[in-house]
Parts: sequence; structure tokens; C-alpha cells
Amino acid sequence: MIRIPLSYNSINTVALSSILERYQGKHHNQITRDFEDQLAAVVGAKYAVALNSGTAAIHLALLAIGVKQNDVVVAPTFTYVATLNPVLYVGATPVLIDSERTTWNIDPELLRVSLQAQSKQGKLPKAIVIVHTYGTPACLNEIMETANQYEIPVIEDAAESLGATYQGKSVGTFGEIGIFSFNNNKAVTGFGGGAIVTNNSHLAAKARFLAAQAREDFQFYEHRNIGFNYGINPLAAAYALSQLVDIEKFTIKRKTLFKNYKQLAPDTFITQQEPTGVSSGRWLSTFLLPEDADGVGMVAALKQAGIEARSVWKPMHQQPLLGTKPAYLNGNSDDFFKRGICLPSGNNLDEATQNEIISVMNRLLQRGY
Ligand SMILES: *Cc1c(COP(=O)(O)O)cnc(C)c1O
Repeated sequence: MIRIPLSYNSINTVALSSILERYQGKHHNQITRDFEDQLAAVVGAKYAVALNSGTAAIHLALLAIGVKQNDVVVAPTFTYVATLNPVLYVGATPVLIDSERTTWNIDPELLRVSLQAQSKQGKLPKAIVIVHTYGTPACLNEIMETANQYEIPVIEDAAESLGATYQGKSVGTFGEIGIFSFNNNKAVTGFGGGAIVTNNSHLAAKARFLAAQAREDFQFYEHRNIGFNYGINPLAAAYALSQLVDIEKFTIKRKTLFKNYKQLAPDTFITQQEPTGVSSGRWLSTFLLPEDADGVGMVAALKQAGIEARSVWKPMHQQPLLGTKPAYLNGNSDDFFKRGICLPSGNNLDEATQNEIISVMNRLLQRGY
């Protein structure tokens, strides 16, 4: 029985009813527009398009940029599969890139090497998807410099990192398009939902058009492209809107949880770092156990104690789904998977519980598991 969940949002019925009352008798589209405006304001982007999931947002980002069958898309290997599935939806070939050890995100040096090689082969990628994993921003300056040099658009999968900043700017606003998720377990939830943010009006308009069955602007139903039903549910938008006003509070809470873990955890535990000018949202607190430890075994042992931890991502190049795709590897993501764990990071967690989690882990590490 799980007593301590990984990342759980309890429903705030007070916030929900007060937001719904504001829209009593109004058109539901108003909720969605207000949510989009609020999100754009929070992250500092010109446009936001609200969608029904972060996965849909990545799919439409790829389509809006014009990624087609047999194109190449570069993406990190150390991520959730939702980063890669949309690349497969459009029939493109992913090229997987390993992580650096500071933030655990895509390694800018390997990215550079891969683009050099692809350039020599005469086939540059159509897009670069990067991820700010577990809330920690990737090395954006280095990545953007390389992407700009080759003139390849960057899509930022910021699904886990609303609230994180890089040199004072929200993640998701550095590339051509950023995407966010408002799924159940994310730091800000709509109990489902996602969004695209961009400063490019054409990309925003294209995503909005494709999300609504690609219906042309006619007096009658006119369709010339394949479209999708990807619009957000207005009730999800209402809940996400009710949470968005508290984004700073949520971010501070998760950052505090992380700080507590860091103080409690043994010095041998390594974690994702925040270089100067970088502020992680710490969606999940992540740690590498000592060299000889077994992350998967630790997760199982913690479960026995009622604590829901998770292994960090099993890299995409190790997955049967994507194992045959081209990959530039350095061993880092393999090492993360071997001994990395995500600790409970929910909004309701208190310090006593964190203490308990760390002492159970210490006991397990000493006695074996
Ligand atoms: C959650 C997540 C997504 C997908 O978002 P959904 O809203 O669940 O579709 C994409 N990428 C990453 C890295 C995520 O964590």
C-alpha cells in the first residue's frame, strides 16, 4: 500500500468553484482564452495555444514547423517517451543524443558532434527537440548557439518545468516553440491539458488550426489538410487557470522539498545541478545513489515500505521501441538509469515524511535490499 505518493495533486475544490463561478453563464471559450493569456503572461511569450495534452502539443509543434515523413529530428535519449512518440507519429527518424552530467539534459557537445556528422552526410535534422528534465533547465545558451549556427528550429519540451528559469527567462521561450503539460502529476495541473507557447504568430495560428480539425475559415465546413481534435477541455483549462496564479508558491514548495532532501541525503548522493543564472522548478527531486547501488531495486524496496519512488528514465536507446534508431551516446544516461531515483515530491509532503524517506533509504543501503 502506497502511503507516500510520488507526485500527487489533491483537488482544490475551493479554487475550482471560485474560478467556475467567475464564468457562470459565460461562453466556455472565454475560459480557454483567459487560460492562454495567463499562461503567455506567466512565461513571457507572445502566444499560447491550449491543447488537451503535452503530447498533442509536441505533435502540433512538429507539424507547425513542417516536419514530415523521413525527416530527421534530434532529441535527447534521457526523457519520457512522450517526447519521442510524436516524432514517430509524423514518420520522422529520431536521432538520440545522450546527456551531460551537470543538468542531466541533452549534451550540447554531443549535439554539435551529431550535427557536424549529419551535415557531412548532407541531411540535417528538420528540428531539435530538447527537454528540461525533472524541472531543471538544459544548457540553453550552448544548445541555441549550435542550433542557430545550423539554422535548425528548436522545440523545448518544458512539460515538467513550468516555473523554471534560465538567466531570468522562463524555459519554453528560447526555441521556436515551447510546450507545457498540465497532466495530473505535473507541478501545475489541469487534470489533463497541455499548451504550445511561441513568439511566432504563424506557428501559433497553424497549431490552433490543426488542433481544430484543420477547418478552413469559410462559411461552410471546408477541409484541405488532415486535422486533429486536440483542443483543451474548458473545465481542465479552468482548473489549470485556478492553479496558475499560484505558480510561484508551487515552485517554492518543490524547491524547498528538494533542498530538504539534499540536506538529509548522504553526501555520496549526486543530483541535477543549477549552474549560475539557472533556477530549476524541481518538479521531482532526483538523486544518483552510490556507484554500486541498484536504483530499480531501491525503488522496489521503498515500495515495500509504502513509499512511491521511481527509477529515473530508462533511456530511449535502451527501449525496444527506439533501440534501433541512430544514437550518439556517452554512457551518462545508462549510468543515471542504473542508480538514479526520483523521490516523492508532491505538494502535500512535509519535512517529517522526507526525514522518514531518507532514513528508510539509509537503512536499505546499509543492510542491503
Ligand atoms: C508529461 C510529459 C509529456 C507529455 O505531457 P502529457 O500532458 O502527459 O501528454 C511530454 N514530455 C515530458 C518530458 C513529460 O514529462
